[in-house]
Amino acid sequence: MKSLKFAVLPGDGIGPEVMDVALDILKATGERYNFSLEYEEADIGGIAIDNHGTAFPESTHRICQASDAILFGSVGGPKWESLPPKEQPERAALLPIRKAFSLYANVRPGLLYSELSEASPLKTNRIPNGIDIVCIRELTGGIYFGQPKSTYEENGETVAIDTMVYKTSEIERIAQVAIDAAKSRQKKVCSVDKANVLETSVLWRKVVTEYFAKHAPDIELSHMYVDNAAMQLARDPNQFDVLFTENMFGDILSDEMGVICGSLGMLASASLGASKNSLELPFGLYEPSGGTAPDIAGQGIANPCAQILSGAMMLRYSFGENDAANAIENAVKSAVTSGSRTGDIAFGNQAISTKAMGDAILKAM
Ligand code: NAD
Repeated sequence: MKSLKFAVLPGDGIGPEVMDVALDILKATGERYNFSLEYEEADIGGIAIDNHGTAFPESTHRICQASDAILFGSVGGPKWESLPPKEQPERAALLPIRKAFSLYANVRPGLLYSELSEASPLKTNRIPNGIDIVCIRELTGGIYFGQPKSTYEENGETVAIDTMVYKTSEIERIAQVAIDAAKSRQKKVCSVDKANVLETSVLWRKVVTEYFAKHAPDIELSHMYVDNAAMQLARDPNQFDVLFTENMFGDILSDEMGVICGSLGMLASASLGASKNSLELPFGLYEPSGGTAPDIAGQGIANPCAQILSGAMMLRYSFGENDAANAIENAVKSAVTSGSRTGDIAFGNQAISTKAMGDAILKAM
């Protein structure tokens, strides 16, 4: 029987509550699809500050390093907000872990079942069939990391500078992720840039065009300026299938996509890096798009679907268990659309607990 080796980092707030349910579902899926889970749990974020004095302890790093994937909850909360910004859980855990494993590709599905279209701020007649897109965002380049980056005094006033940098190899490797995503979908990629203004975008557009022509001539590639993409996403999201872009534009567009898809409790994500196992599949960190939800933490009422769907993404991307991933995704859809709902997506249905939601999904499987 195949054994899947991954690190489990539940983190803070609702993290441990939704992680428990996700692990139950992964275990049940393994029994059905003939794999076992070999996971080790470790502290990250606020709980790691409390237990180890740092948000991303060396012991946690070692466990992740020895794994083929990381299933992550979320980090942070009011308890740690008075710490200096550099020591706060999000900054001291999330950014270092992404950096430690060179996670260069963020894959965020924007999925809204038609039965939940009330959750979207868009008019329901704009999304009669819900929403189904995926955003692929470059995660380790661009303006967030380019040098020089500094604040200095000049002629009696303060000046700040950030630098946007991209090179061909960075663009090509993320283009391949977009191609892989498109292959299992409608084979349609919209690449978003600002090539009318930015040098990096001119290069982005050229490299993407050439890469797709050479490696994926069967995928329909279009280009769109980022300002237009932001409008089109709100006007008619389903014109997109794979939305593909650089780091800062992706940061903004993927959040816009998240909000039009309704509850954060339903949205999974993956951050992928190079393979480090014999399967030659990407190492990845899989986590809900939302945070630790301090307003509902400890009450057992959080929606576990985003964590469960993150687990399904892990099975697909890092372990190649596509049938098992599909089974989980179908079970979540079936449970939710037939009326099992936590409070964030209840809309008149009776709200059930985190655990009951997990049970409904297990039953649907
Ligand atoms: P949040 O995503 O935690 O919560 C925003 C709203 O969405 C809240 O009303 C919350 O109850 C709701 N929500 C989120 N996930 C839910 C779920 N699974 N089920 C039901 N409702 C859910 O964002 P916030 O309030 O801005 O941040 C809270 C803390 O989380 C902060 O400390 C922040 O730094 C941290 N955070 C961490 C991550 C991460 O670990 N990746 C991401 C975002 C925020």
